[in-house]
Amino acid sequence: MDNFDSCVSFHISDGAFLGRFVRLDNVINTILNNHHYPVQVSAVVAESTALAALLASTIKYDGLFTLQTKSNGPVPMVVVDVTSQGKIRACADYDEEKIRKAQELRKTTGEIEPAPHFMGEGVLAFTVDQGPNTELYQGIVDLQGKDLSECAMRYFKQSEQIETYLQLYLQAPQNESERWKSAGILLQKLPSHGGKEILDEESQKEAWNQAVIFMQSLQPAEVFNPDISSQDLLYRLYHADDLQIDKSKDYSFGCRCSREKLWNTLHAMKPQDIDDMCENGKITATCHFCGTTYSFDKGELLAQ
Ligand SMILES: [Zn+2]
Repeated sequence: MDNFDSCVSFHISDGAFLGRFVRLDNVINTILNNHHYPVQVSAVVAESTALAALLASTIKYDGLFTLQTKSNGPVPMVVVDVTSQGKIRACADYDEEKIRKAQELRKTTGEIEPAPHFMGEGVLAFTVDQGPNTELYQGIVDLQGKDLSECAMRYFKQSEQIETYLQLYLQAPQNESERWKSAGILLQKLPSHGGKEILDEESQKEAWNQAVIFMQSLQPAEVFNPDISSQDLLYRLYHADDLQIDKSKDYSFGCRCSREKLWNTLHAMKPQDIDDMCENGKITATCHFCGTTYSFDKGELLAQ
């Protein structure tokens, strides 16, 4: 059994708190192999992807979950898509000169820093798109805090009023045989408990604090150990707290681009604009997510 590229859903404390545990390997490496990002940008993308998968797993939706950042730093934009089918794709914009300057300034060349440092000031937004005739759900929070998990926790506190605790993990390859890995674990206090109050407020507070302390004890070496299943790791943390494993969902890389989609976009453009985009009678476009290059004939596009 592969212990990565999945999300395990669980409950603890007699169902009072829900949990999610995401571990990513192939998905991250496929995304990063499609691009040739500087190491710091790869780290930002890997960390953002773990957060996106974790957040998407807490929402019931049929369609597309998107995490997007917009900021003024060396990595001014990151986009991660997670479909309800478990297909993930991601990409980022970056400014190499700004990355170099930022590293010089902090004298930390080569070290991986938490994502927000390289994103700069800006916002982190989530949207859930369930197709035509449905309401677009959107959440937004400032990119502030020591890492992305702090941003996300602030979002839940401010906008959703759901007590949430989460941690993100990142492993950068130290040599050519190693791979990128990222992970995240989350606990949420359920607002109501199926009509029955099992824990009074004081014991619930105590149980919550205890569960958070256990989560904080989870070490990167365990999280990234391929020989330990997510279920076993959760058992180590929460076996004394009435752990119930609910289900597991698999993830894989998947891009939603297609020749047909791009054709429809280009075909709807003004002939003058198409003319401006053409080079040697052709328009060539490369997908930012998967790197697939599509080429169209000017004559073809202008026909009809
Ligand atoms: Zn694509």
